[in-house]
Amino acid sequence: MDETRTQVAIIGAGPAGMLLSHLLAAEGVDSVVVETRSEEYVASRIRAGILEQSTVDLLRGSGLAERLEDEGDRHRGIYLQWPEERHHLDFEKLTGRSVWVYGQTEVQKDLVAARKADDQAVFYEIDDTTLDDVETDRPSVTFTDADGAPHRVVADVVAGCDGTFGPSRAAVPEGERSTWEKVYPYSWLGVLADVAPSTDELIYAWHPDGFALHSMRSETVSRLYLQVPNDTPVEEWSDDRIWESLATRLGHGQDGWTLTPGPITEKSVLPMRSFVQTPMRHGRLFLAGDAAHIVPPTGAKGLNLAVSDVGLLAPALVALLQTGDSALADAYSDTALRRVWRCTHFSWWMTTMLHQSGDPFDRQLQLSQLRWVTGSDAGATGLAENYAGLPLGY
Ligand SMILES: Cc1cc2nc3c(=O)[nH]c(=O)nc-3n(C[C@H](O)[C@H](O)[C@H](O)COP(=O)(O)OP(=O)(O)OC[C@H]3O[C@@H](n4cnc5c(N)ncnc54)[C@H](O)[C@@H]3O)c2cc1C
Repeated sequence: MDETRTQVAIIGAGPAGMLLSHLLAAEGVDSVVVETRSEEYVASRIRAGILEQSTVDLLRGSGLAERLEDEGDRHRGIYLQWPEERHHLDFEKLTGRSVWVYGQTEVQKDLVAARKADDQAVFYEIDDTTLDDVETDRPSVTFTDADGAPHRVVADVVAGCDGTFGPSRAAVPEGERSTWEKVYPYSWLGVLADVAPSTDELIYAWHPDGFALHSMRSETVSRLYLQVPNDTPVEEWSDDRIWESLATRLGHGQDGWTLTPGPITEKSVLPMRSFVQTPMRHGRLFLAGDAAHIVPPTGAKGLNLAVSDVGLLAPALVALLQTGDSALADAYSDTALRRVWRCTHFSWWMTTMLHQSGDPFDRQLQLSQLRWVTGSDAGATGLAENYAGLPLGY
C-alpha cells in the first residue's frame, strides 16, 4: 500500500478542511487533505452565502480576502417583517459589526486557489475512508485513491472536517461521545434565480402561510427560500407557484415594494436540523465544522461556525506540533463548544421565531417576540450581536 507521511491528515476538502490546511501551512505545519468528491463538485455546491464579521476578519488576516473585498457585498443589517410591517435592524449602528454576502462557492474557490498556489497535496475522488489508531500519537487515514489503489496517510494528528456524512464523528467511541439533536417539522425550498435582488439587504418574513427569506448572491443573482412541509417533492413547486408564494409571503405591493421574478436556475429542498456531538476531540482526532455540529440555516451560522472552529484549531495544532505545548489542543473542544452552543441556540431561536409550527399559541409568542426585537434597542442588539457574529474567542 502507498504510504504518505504528514503532520496533519485532514479528512474533507470543504471550507473547514481547506481553511485548516491553509492556516497550518502559513505556520509551517504540513498537511494532506483527502476528499471523496471531485474538486469541481465541492466548489460548485450551492450552500451558505452570508459571512459574519469574525469570518471576514479571519479570511483577511490569512490573505484570503482579495476577491471578497472586490466582489463581496457588505450589509449593515437585515429586514424583519410580518404582514403590514417591515423593520430594518442596523447591525453596524447597534454593534459596530456587519455581515458580507459572498457565496460559499466563492469562499471554496478562493481556498482551492490558495492551496494550489502552495502545492498542497489533496487526494480527490477517494473511497473507503477509514480512521485508525486515533488514540495513539501515530494516527492514520486509509482510503482507495482515484485510480483504485489503496493508500495510507500516517500523521501526528487527524482533523475530521468531513461534514454531516463523513466517518470522523463515528470514530469517537460510542461510550465517549454524546449527541444532541432536534429535527424541525418543516424544510426550506431554496431557489437560485437569475434576477437582480428586489432588496438591498436580506428580508426575513414571518407569514401565516409560512416563512420566506429573500437573500442574494450578487447584483444579478437572487437566493430565495420558502418554508415547506418536510419531504415535499420539489416537483410540487412550479416556478409560477414559487414566485406567487414568495410575492405573498414577502409582501409584494406593501408600501410600494415589489418583488421582481426571473428565471429559476436551481431548486432544492433542505431539511432543518440542529445537531451537536461532544467532545470535539478524541485522542489525536479533532472534529471541526459540520462533522461536529449542524444548525438550521435561518441564523446563517453553518459556514461561519466551520470557520471559527478552524480558527481555534489551527493555532492549537501549531502549538502542539511545533513546541509540544498541548494547552490549546486540550482546551479546543470546550472552547469551540462554547461558541457552537451559542450559535446552536441563536439558530434555533431565529428558526422558531419565524416559522409556522401550526400552533396558534406559538404564533402570538412569535409576533410578540418580533415586535420586541424590532421595537427595543436591547432586543435588536441581542439579535444583531449574534447574527453579525461574536468575536472568535467568545
Ligand atoms: C444543502 C445545504 C445547504 C446549506 N445552506 C446553508 C445556508 O444557506 N446558510 C448557511 O449558513 N449554511 C448552509 N449550509 C451549511 C454550510 O454549507 C455548512 O455548515 C458548511 O459547508 C460546513 O463546512 P464543512 O467544511 O464543515 O463541511 P462540508 O462543506 O460538508 O465539507 C465536508 C467535506 O467532507 C467530504 N467528505 C465526506 N465524507 C468523506 C469521506 N468519507 N472521506 C473524505 N471526505 C469526505 C465531503 O464531500 C465534503 O466536501 C448548507 C448545507 C447544506 C448541506
